[in-house]
Amino acid sequence: MRARRQDRIVTTPERTGDGPGAGTPLLTLALRVERDIFLIRQRGREVAAAVGLEYQDQVRVATALSEMGRELLTGNGADVTFAVTEAPTQRLTVEMISLAPIPAGGPNGSRTPAVSRLVDEFVVEPGEAGTRVWLSRRLPAGVPPLTAQRLAELRAELGALVAAAPLDELAAQNQQLLAALDEVRRQRDDLARVNGELQETNNGVMALYNELSGELEETNRGVVALYAELDDKTAQLHAASEAKSRFLANVSHELRAPVTAVIGLSRLLADSASDPLTDEQCRQVDLIRASATDLLNLVNDLLNLAKAEAGRLEPAWVTVDLRAVFGQLRGTLRALPRRPEVDLVVEDPADPPSLRSDEVLLTQVLRNLLTNGLKFTERGEVRLRAHRPAGGDRVELTVSDTGIGIPAELHERVFEEFYQVPGPNQARVTGTGLGLPYARRLAEVLGGSLGVASTPGKGSTFTLALPLAPPEAT
Ligand code: ADP
Repeated sequence: MRARRQDRIVTTPERTGDGPGAGTPLLTLALRVERDIFLIRQRGREVAAAVGLEYQDQVRVATALSEMGRELLTGNGADVTFAVTEAPTQRLTVEMISLAPIPAGGPNGSRTPAVSRLVDEFVVEPGEAGTRVWLSRRLPAGVPPLTAQRLAELRAELGALVAAAPLDELAAQNQQLLAALDEVRRQRDDLARVNGELQETNNGVMALYNELSGELEETNRGVVALYAELDDKTAQLHAASEAKSRFLANVSHELRAPVTAVIGLSRLLADSASDPLTDEQCRQVDLIRASATDLLNLVNDLLNLAKAEAGRLEPAWVTVDLRAVFGQLRGTLRALPRRPEVDLVVEDPADPPSLRSDEVLLTQVLRNLLTNGLKFTERGEVRLRAHRPAGGDRVELTVSDTGIGIPAELHERVFEEFYQVPGPNQARVTGTGLGLPYARRLAEVLGGSLGVASTPGKGSTFTLALPLAPPEAT
């Protein structure tokens, strides 16, 4: 008698197809004594091979049968039926029904989980008359359909098989074991090879890493050395620049007294109170005085620049009245000889901001720029104005002219010491090439900057941008 439905124990996770008991029987065997286990194992493998299961699956089915055979022998043996189910799921199924019930869990119930892993479906149904074990294994996809003719052939094939001696099956079992051992060894060798490769790759990566960190360290050392060298060079440059400034300051200082004396003496010679000179002598004395005046200008400019470069200019920060500064410039520059075609326009600062700066230095910069403007403008105007960019904490003082202008590529060069733009216009005016470098230095001392925008033939605009308060105080 079959077990009641609620008594079924389903030990496979998924049950497919039409369930236990279905299919076309192929072979029936009796399991009664220990020896029969071998027979069932052997037959199981042969049937599995005959229906098209692959070698590994044949061994699985045979192993499952021999394991369950041992279990069922504890219930006085069993009847074993091999069957196949047809499309859509072609399976080999085996039904084993014990002659007497086996206690739940069985004496060797621990075999059950292992067996369930060997097959696709595995069902154990305890019953009052006997325990029913049912298992199945799906045939591979490529196996042709098991038609009635094919089934008849299979039955004939299996019927012709002679029961092999238990020793033969043992030998076959040994073969399978050896094959399995080989497989394990092969896998172990593969693993060792992969490990070896991994180790080699690791070594390579480590070597690369070491090489890279070595290179990095070397580069770092190089950079550090370079910086040290740079520091040295900077210190040397600084020292050289200081020496130059000191030299200039000393020489100019020493020159100033004799040059002033020459000017004074030439003025005395030309004085009407002195003995009268011939016209030629007068002309020569004038030449001496003009040359000495040029020389004095140069010496004064050099001295100023040297002082500024040596950092010896300490601005006296006061609140500057821009209106007063502009007024004073207007007055002093108007006295200069200049072309009648050129207007000097000093705009009155409309709403002068409160500016803290050094009035003397600021006036020097503006006078320098205005003098240049007048020197290099043949007609039109030279204009000074103050402007405060919206929202800024700076004031911009611009000196613009309608003069000869400066080519764009020389805008920075005119701030270099002794540089004068070459050309015929230059030849007509005198100068030292020290005015703009000095003016820019002063602008920096005042915490600001001096720049130029200019177009040849149209004019130039020099902009002195100053902070409203000294840099330290902002
Ligand atoms: P200097 O005027 O004594 O030659 P600066 O340093 O003041 O020396 O000026 C350098 C040169 O820049 C001048 O020689 C001149 O070529 C050019 N330069 C200066 N200001 C102007 C200007 N407003 N317009 C055209 N060129 C100028």
